[in-house]
Amino acid sequence: MADPWADPAAYDLVVCGAGPAGAIAAAHAARAGLRVALVEKHRLPRHKPCGGGMPATVGPELAALVPEAVRDFGITLMRHTWKGGEAQLGSVDGVDQPGSGSSRALWMVQRPLFDQALVQAAVGAGVEFWEGWQLRHVTVEPQEILLDLRRRGGAEVPPLERRVTTRHLIGADGAGSVVAQSAGLRRSPRIGLALELEVPHRWDPADPVLRPDTLHLDYGVIRQGYAWAFPKADHINLGAGLFRLRHRDARRDPTARTTIRAAIQTYAATLGLEDRLEGLRVHAHPLPVWDGPEPLQSADGRILLVGDAAGLINPLFGDGLFHAIRSGRLAAECLIAGRGLDYTRQIHALLAEDFEAARRLTWLFYGLPGLTFRYGIANPRATAVAARMLGGEIPFRGLPRRALVRIARGLLGQGARAGAV
Ligand SMILES: Cc1cc2nc3c(=O)[nH]c(=O)nc-3n(C[C@H](O)[C@H](O)[C@H](O)COP(=O)(O)OP(=O)(O)OC[C@H]3O[C@@H](n4cnc5c(N)ncnc54)[C@H](O)[C@@H]3O)c2cc1C
Repeated sequence: MADPWADPAAYDLVVCGAGPAGAIAAAHAARAGLRVALVEKHRLPRHKPCGGGMPATVGPELAALVPEAVRDFGITLMRHTWKGGEAQLGSVDGVDQPGSGSSRALWMVQRPLFDQALVQAAVGAGVEFWEGWQLRHVTVEPQEILLDLRRRGGAEVPPLERRVTTRHLIGADGAGSVVAQSAGLRRSPRIGLALELEVPHRWDPADPVLRPDTLHLDYGVIRQGYAWAFPKADHINLGAGLFRLRHRDARRDPTARTTIRAAIQTYAATLGLEDRLEGLRVHAHPLPVWDGPEPLQSADGRILLVGDAAGLINPLFGDGLFHAIRSGRLAAECLIAGRGLDYTRQIHALLAEDFEAARRLTWLFYGLPGLTFRYGIANPRATAVAARMLGGEIPFRGLPRRALVRIARGLLGQGARAGAV
């Protein structure tokens, strides 16, 4: 059989990284007739540390690509707690009814399956998938971009190296993006940190707390972040993250991992899961959070960054999937139209205003979490508002002011009540 890699061809586009951002970008470009390669250093399915929660508004973005069957559950309720105390149950569509079948339900996916389905769709659209190949080096020449790839060897298989050429390159290679470094972009990213583990679980219809339609969030077990428990078909994704940072890069904070681990332990205990953590593997992963508008393309518009490689994680909520997916599509559309130079402007038009408002709110949310919880999150309408903000249906703009007013009113009301006693 001929070695398919013996004569690497020149591509119109190489996408580096087969997470959601990369797979979507590759699929869109191939559908438009471009010759596209998708390069991924791991073999799929691979574990990706992630809660796998997404707003339902992602549906239309994915409609033609993945079957809805990759979705484990539709979440209709959020259960909010402060240090595991009394729970505030909120409905994502404002209807306080479990299992209401809301169209606003948040999606729960398992990343290994979800990402693999997206890549299969991309391959179906004509993308050549370089699975198990790591991008090591990028050389930009006037006419083309040269990529040096390496495939790891096995017990009896020697490592392989290949050079491919392309006219355009999309960096979808996540938090430690080689493409971003090579293009001189995102020189000083702001990096949060999250840890998660998968607790095997059988859903018991009689359990009033752990339910497949409910996601759990706690804001008091960790400072400058939150902890979560997300339902999956056969397990609970349990984790915690640091989002507002003492260090620009949380990985440089020597106490970060211990702090997050301790928060997960504490949170597990409040959910009755503490005895089920032993022996489970804990995964850690950086979160490149938005840190203000910056160029996301090379000066000539031939190299574009998408998803985590572009730092498109909401600094308030820490979610990145929806933004990764939308940026992947936008990057492909810009290149298809021959308008790579317009990409950064389009991303900023889509996200910058919201992300900046979210960033302004982090000092309140993570700086005064007790007050935010009491007078904001615990409000019966807050869940529906948060779900719509996650889904891009209502803007973050104006929220910082509204949040301050709400907290001030709460404090004044409390003061008045105390005065009346
Ligand atoms: C613990 C945790 C929980 C999270 N939970 C949520 C959540 O519930 N909801 C949400 O919206 N977001 C969540 N996020 C954020 C979300 O996971 C990311 O925003 C999302 O994965 C970004 O997708 P991406 O395609 O840009 O990058 P990734 O999913 O990181 O994909 C990048 C891909 O590039 C590959 N790659 C990297 N370097 C190279 C190279 N040199 N050569 C070839 N391939 C390479 C990687 O192997 C990987 O497959 C969470 C993050 C963490 C860490």
